[in-house]
This record gives sequence, structure tokens and C-alpha cells, in this order.
Amino acid sequence: MGTSYGTICKSCGNEEEYMLGCGFMSNRSFEHLHENTSSKILKRHLNLLEKEYQGMVIDIPILKLYECSQCKTIHSRLKFAVEYGENEVFNPQYNCGKCKSILMPIELVGSSFGSQMEPTGYKCKKCGKESL
Ligand SMILES: [Zn+2]
Ligand SMILES: [Zn+2]
Repeated sequence: MGTSYGTICKSCGNEEEYMLGCGFMSNRSFEHLHENTSSKILKRHLNLLEKEYQGMVIDIPILKLYECSQCKTIHSRLKFAVEYGENEVFNPQYNCGKCKSILMPIELVGSSFGSQMEPTGYKCKKCGKESL
């Protein structure tokens, strides 16, 4: 099931919620990937992988937390892998909407046991202070 991760800014009290996990998307189809992708470039890649390369979604797509190390912000994005051609694997790469830096996935240590380690030191999207 999907879960969500919430942050509260210690400075202005702004709350953000990020959806995580697979939840209703525990379906390895290209259709599901399309439904959860807003990037036109990524959609084009998906079409190519599906139709030209007969790609296969090899992992259950899962929403994960990603960070932008430039603006110190967190984002939730869909992580998935598509195998195509001669054992090649496509992994999506996401860019920060603000500074265009590549977003890197962050691991929540111990998250499978419900004792999530909070990512700290990130900027609030509202007031811009590093007070998460
Ligand atoms: Zn704030
Ligand atoms: Zn950024």
C-alpha cells in the first residue's frame, strides 16, 4: 500500500505531503507509467521503449522521495525500471522544476519498519528557509 510522508516547516508551519510507495500503482504496465508522468520527454521515451523496443516494466513502479541538492528541496517522483533491447535498463531521470538539476532519490532508513528517519535540512517550499 502507498503511504505518505509529511513535513512541517519549523519556521512558518507550512505543511507538505508527499505520496510514497506503490499503492494503486502496483501494476507493471506502461499505461500506469503514463498516468503518473507529467513530463513530455519522459512520455516520449516511454512510447519508444514500449513500441520500438518492446520494453518490459521489470519492477513495480514506486513513488519515492527525491532531493534537489541545489535548492535543498524534496519532491516525490515515480521510480521504475524498463528492460529493453539486449538486457538494457532504462531508469527515469527527473529534474528539479526550479533549477533543472537532476533529482537524486533519498532513502528513508528503516522505513519498512515504520521508524522513518526524517530527512532534515531541506528548504520549505513556502518561506524558503532550511527549517524542515
Ligand atoms: Zn516555511
Ligand atoms: Zn533545484
